[in-house]
Amino acid sequence: MKKNSKIVNAGRQSKWTQGIVNPPVYRASTVVFDTVAEMKHASANKAKQVPFYGRRGTPTTFAFADAMNELEGGVGCYVYPCGTAAITSAILAFVKSGDHLLMVDTAYEPTRDFCQKTLAKFGVEVTFYDPMIGKAIGKLIQTNTKVIFLESPGSLTMEVQDVPGICAVAHAQPQDITVILDNTWASPINFQPFAHGVDVSVQAATKYIVGHSDVMLGTATANKKAWPILRENSYLLGQCASPDDIYLAMRGIRTLGVRLKQHQQSSLQIAKWLAERPEVKTVLHPALSSCPGHEFFERDFEGGNGLFSFVLNKSNDKALTALLDGMHHFKMGFSWGGFESLILGITGLKNMRSATEWPHQGALIRLHIGLEDVEDLIADLEQGFKRLNAHL
Ligand SMILES: *Cc1c(COP(=O)(O)O)cnc(C)c1O
Repeated sequence: MKKNSKIVNAGRQSKWTQGIVNPPVYRASTVVFDTVAEMKHASANKAKQVPFYGRRGTPTTFAFADAMNELEGGVGCYVYPCGTAAITSAILAFVKSGDHLLMVDTAYEPTRDFCQKTLAKFGVEVTFYDPMIGKAIGKLIQTNTKVIFLESPGSLTMEVQDVPGICAVAHAQPQDITVILDNTWASPINFQPFAHGVDVSVQAATKYIVGHSDVMLGTATANKKAWPILRENSYLLGQCASPDDIYLAMRGIRTLGVRLKQHQQSSLQIAKWLAERPEVKTVLHPALSSCPGHEFFERDFEGGNGLFSFVLNKSNDKALTALLDGMHHFKMGFSWGGFESLILGITGLKNMRSATEWPHQGALIRLHIGLEDVEDLIADLEQGFKRLNAHL
């Protein structure tokens, strides 16, 4: 089946839907059994998709987990109340006190924070590495290195990593290092994690899967080797998500293909327009050659989306604030992946990394290109640049 047909069909087994087109919301804490034999059967199959107790999931959860598995190509998927819970649970499943973890320097800020605070508290040593390190990651591997964590592209600065190169080195080690990838940017359809050697693929479903900026949700999908460990540890941590939220994510999935196509088309048009602007030093869009790791995007990805960044040639606090304050379509807000455009102005990137030097002086602006008309978005940015220039 090709991509869009998969999106339409994913997770729609009749045992979950009873024939209803989209899997309905099943809420549950208690599941009751009429006979001891039935209860024993459910109990013995706790690791499978058998209703047992609400925390283990209901048919709504199972349908969504199936859908994510089918789209990402894994063998099992665990659903979490947000993307961050998926990241922290996936990491905790594979490290113990005394272990060492390699974390990409461009990771999503809460991921970095979790390493520096929670993992440090548990005695797990963390080394941050250059996202462009590729196979040279071997030099940082220790005998106690158990996990390499990737985020590709990095969610602020967009470096695309050599995922298969890093995975090959990880799996050649005697301890067969577990590779966890934050695959949120690609969504489950534009980068196939397991075909590139990843063991666990994390999604902030909050973003493009939900697609409407109204639900928090996360998933971690795993290959055969990692799934039993991920599943058991996530369950022991008490992770579970609301069937109502899962239902909305399932509804979001059905339009993922067409939405991403439009986000990608509009974002490329705007990125190319920005590249010609005198105010802009460089455009960090994985589909443009100015983005570090663009060659890996070309080699490994099946498409892009609406999220990218650019660096200003010159800025100061007043000028940046003037640009940001008067926007009509690009509102300031965290997250991305909804139908609406967003903007963030970021200074101080130098303090957000430890293994690499951020090479630019001017502020970074991250855009999420929503589903508005490109002409309106460009006009909005053009006015923004006028306000910026008035203060330089
Ligand atoms: C948003 C985001 C997360 C975290 O997801 P939440 O659902 O907000 O917890 C993780 N990784 C990336 C790349 C993100 O953009």
